[in-house]
Amino acid sequence: MASITLDSSVLIIGAGTWGCSVALELARRRYTNVTVLDGHSFPSAIAAGNDLNKIMEEATPKPEDSDREYFFNRVSQLSGQAWREDPIYSSFYHQTGFIMSACSASFYKEHVLPYAKEFPDTVLLESAEQWRATMPEGVLTGDFPGWRGVYRRTGAGWVFARGAIEAVLAEAVRLGVKLIANSSEGAVTSLLFSDDLTNVRGATTADGRTHYADTTILAAGANSDLLLDFKKQLRPTAWTLAHVPLSPSEARIYKDMPVPYNIERGFFIEPDAETHQIKICDEHPGYVHMVTDSKTGEERSVPFAKHQIPVASEARIRRLLRDTMPQLSEREFSFARICWDADTADRIFLIDRHPEYSSLVLACGGSGHGVNPMPAIGKIVVDRLEGTMEERLRKMARWRPEQVVNRDWWDLQGRHGADEKIMEFGDVEKWTRIGEGRSEKL
Ligand SMILES: Cc1cc2nc3c(=O)[nH]c(=O)nc-3n(C[C@H](O)[C@H](O)[C@H](O)COP(=O)(O)OP(=O)(O)OC[C@H]3O[C@@H](n4cnc5c(N)ncnc54)[C@H](O)[C@@H]3O)c2cc1C
Repeated sequence: MASITLDSSVLIIGAGTWGCSVALELARRRYTNVTVLDGHSFPSAIAAGNDLNKIMEEATPKPEDSDREYFFNRVSQLSGQAWREDPIYSSFYHQTGFIMSACSASFYKEHVLPYAKEFPDTVLLESAEQWRATMPEGVLTGDFPGWRGVYRRTGAGWVFARGAIEAVLAEAVRLGVKLIANSSEGAVTSLLFSDDLTNVRGATTADGRTHYADTTILAAGANSDLLLDFKKQLRPTAWTLAHVPLSPSEARIYKDMPVPYNIERGFFIEPDAETHQIKICDEHPGYVHMVTDSKTGEERSVPFAKHQIPVASEARIRRLLRDTMPQLSEREFSFARICWDADTADRIFLIDRHPEYSSLVLACGGSGHGVNPMPAIGKIVVDRLEGTMEERLRKMARWRPEQVVNRDWWDLQGRHGADEKIMEFGDVEKWTRIGEGRSEKL
């Protein structure tokens, strides 16, 4: 592997949350020959990061942290600082507070109470009155049946995810990064290998063009798994979201509310400032789309795009609304989509040089929490590229196929909700028909 210099050519595949962060970091470190490819016009309609908002929680490493805890705490520390202070990121972070909650007694004990210990300035919410008092009158009118939570007022809230990727990429482009984003010139169809197949030399796009590069960074989210044999380290997994429209006057009342997150039911975040839509996610361990690989005969989950959700997901979202904001529970959705991410088996990110193809760097495995660390991802990936990545982080985020030799694709990976199982899109009988005049009646 030739050492990287500031004029080395660097190709980033994917202009989502991670690709944009990496592009900006490279530009800030004065790399002069950086190109980002994306298969959709920017911001991509299939990017998980092209979303109204995502939960953001700050954290700090502690001396007693296990390696796993250290990984998440250190990454959150790095990103928290940037979300608060970096002029490109800081306007997108809204420290409105966050409520971690559950309905079952066992999950409350196992997941929610430890959160209160971790962040001592929290307040317990054990009655509907206490829940309602966390937001302006008229917002939380529900009975919160069985809901118990821990309200963290500071160091958490949400980020405007789409705004962040747009601003970050705009800054990267201003600093000289080149973006090619469309379905022919930007869509990578395959990695480009050296003649002896021992290294990656760039990528080929749908228009048939070859893009040679000294270093290729694969940051194509869930679709990364279609471009390289990850040896089962990634499971493309989808979640579901819908938007409920509010009037401008309603939106003013719901503004600045903390993010209530129930590990069995889902979460919602205050309405978007421009469109006044409120995003709601139902919580579940995820959907897969298993396909038998014709070459290996093995099953793998293959992402596909759809701007609708299963009717069962709509039912879960409406149940969440009935519990919390029943005044919105019968309102037509204005938008819905399935949203894919790449789950590693331990949900720790995969950021490493490929062990065989030394010019290929992997930046994937967001595992359902890859927006929170967005500003840190660029730093960590470029540190890995330059050989300066913190050792404790490097060890955890390394290429690690040995962990997944017998990977159980149906493993819940610590998630809850719905029927406590991974669901298969092939089993979905009915989808919503949002935009066709009505959503399915439940
Ligand atoms: C419903 C849902 C809710 C979530 N909530 C949160 C949350 O609250 N907090 C949080 O921190 N995280 C959350 N996440 C996770 C987070 O969104 C992801 O971890 C993160 O966005 C992953 O970033 P990425 O850059 O890897 O992928 P993406 O943002 O998906 O970007 C991938 C990019 O690659 C492009 N691409 C794909 N294939 C190709 C190709 N062949 N050629 C060129 N380009 C290609 C795509 O067009 C896209 O732009 C959530 C995820 C989902 C699905």
